[in-house]
Amino acid sequence: MNGIGESLFATLFPSDCRICRKPLVNISRLPVCRDCLSQIHAISCEVCAICGESIATPYALGMQPEKLLCGACRQDEPPFAKAVAYGSYNGNLRELIHLLKYEQVKPVAQVLGAMLAEAIEGIKDSLPAEGVVVVPVPLHKSKRRQRAFNQAEMIARAALDLLKKNGSAGLRTWMLNKKALVRCRATQSQIGLTRAQRRENMRGAFAVPHPKAVQNQTVLLIDDVVTTGTTVAECARILSKAGASKVYVASVARTLRIEAQGFGVGSFAPELDSEDLAATGS
Ligand SMILES: [Zn+2]
Ligand SMILES: [Zn+2]
Repeated sequence: MNGIGESLFATLFPSDCRICRKPLVNISRLPVCRDCLSQIHAISCEVCAICGESIATPYALGMQPEKLLCGACRQDEPPFAKAVAYGSYNGNLRELIHLLKYEQVKPVAQVLGAMLAEAIEGIKDSLPAEGVVVVPVPLHKSKRRQRAFNQAEMIARAALDLLKKNGSAGLRTWMLNKKALVRCRATQSQIGLTRAQRRENMRGAFAVPHPKAVQNQTVLLIDDVVTTGTTVAECARILSKAGASKVYVASVARTLRIEAQGFGVGSFAPELDSEDLAATGS
C-alpha cells in the first residue's frame, strides 16, 4: 500500500486505544477510548489552599478549606498566590499527558485543555475579571526544536479558547503571552536532588525579556504537570521580580503525596520516574 492509501485506511478504520489497546469503536481524532477517559477524575481529596498538595483527612477535619495549609506552605510562603490542578498525576491522566508530550498525539491537547479550563474555573473568582496575562511555562529552545511544540502552550490555548467561549465578557480580555517568560538554559535532571539543590538547579533558568508585559498585571502561569513544584515556583519568583502584581498557577495534573497522618512536614516522597523528573526541567 502506498502512503496515501495507508493514511486513508487509518482514517476509515479506527485503530486501537493508545492506553488500553482495545479496538476503538468510533472514528475520532483522539485515539483513546471512552472507558479510558471516564476513569480520569478531578482531585477530590482535601488540598492545601495555597499549593494544592494533598492533606490527610484527620488534620483536615473541621477546617475551613481556605485555611488548610500543608507543612511546606506553613513553613515558607510560596512565591505564587495559589496553585490549582485538575487531577492527580497518575493512571490514565498521566498516560494522556505522555501521549501528547512524548508521542506527539496533538488532539489530546483539546481534552487536557478542557480539564485545565475546569481547574481555572475554580479560581476564576479570585482573579481580576479583566486583563489577566496567561503565560505558559516555556521550554528551552533545544527541547522545543526536538519536540516541535510546547505542550503547556497548546493546552493553555485550548483552555483559554473554551473559557472565552463559555465565560463572561471580561474573560475575552485575558491574553495568552507565550513570550512573557523565556527559558535561558536547559536545566539538569532533578533526580536525587534535595529541595534546596533543585532550587539552585533552577537559578537563572528563566527570564522576563520585556518586564512591561507583566508589570502590575495578574499572571496565570500554566504548566501541563506540576511534580516537585520547583519549576513553577521559580517562574513565579521571576515574574514577581519583573513586576507582576500576583501570580497564580494552573496545571492539568500534579503529583499528590499524602502527608504522614497529616501532621508536620510530609515524609513520603512522591514516586517519580526519571521521565517525570526530566520533564520538570524540560
Ligand atoms: Zn482505552
Ligand atoms: Zn501547600
